[in-house]
Amino acid sequence: MISIADEIICYAECVNNSDLLPLITFLIVVSLFLFTFYLKTKTPIHRVISFAGAQLSMVGAIAATFSTMECSRMLTIEVYLAYVLISTGVMLFLPGLYYKILIRRHNARPISEIVDWADDFVNKLANNSQIYYFDSAIPKAFASGKAIFVSVGMLEIFDQQELKAVLAHEAWHLRHNNKTPILRQLSLMTFTKYRPEQELELMADRFAEEIVGKGPLESARAKLI
Ligand SMILES: [Zn+2]
Repeated sequence: MISIADEIICYAECVNNSDLLPLITFLIVVSLFLFTFYLKTKTPIHRVISFAGAQLSMVGAIAATFSTMECSRMLTIEVYLAYVLISTGVMLFLPGLYYKILIRRHNARPISEIVDWADDFVNKLANNSQIYYFDSAIPKAFASGKAIFVSVGMLEIFDQQELKAVLAHEAWHLRHNNKTPILRQLSLMTFTKYRPEQELELMADRFAEEIVGKGPLESARAKLI
């Protein structure tokens, strides 16, 4: 029986001596590149494609490694299983933590610093939610995980009822986020100018209407650029 250390040395030698080493290295670099892109991109469809691409490249790299193994193929399978566990963990936990990346990316601050009623209002609609504002003159709002983000531009030009309409719409997204598929959760649930065809958006609007009425919702939408 060989020890794990021997296995790892043998494993490294197998890969090192293999003709496939450039291909394996290339696939790992592509996978890391796509994963970085996945963390940075804002477009939901790009996020889905880059995540799937990163997974496929990594599986390709592991399959190529497996085919070069002359000593311990078991170790390749173990590495693969570890990879599946880690990437599944990322898939499951990243949506919940993604808002932390957004806070840093937008340099967002708690809304309670400038608006005193917003936290209470939203927490009555969606428990344990957090609301942030960020510096942008363009009026926009979106939700991710347990957080809602509102731009300074929106806070400046929307009156209180219109803001409540937007926050109620986003609060609906927070409440239903965990029922949508994981990759869908990574997309930002926005408040958009045009009455959206998407079912989720219509349901969020209907909820906002129940809370604040049709008027503020429509005038809020009309103020969007
Ligand atoms: Zn929405």
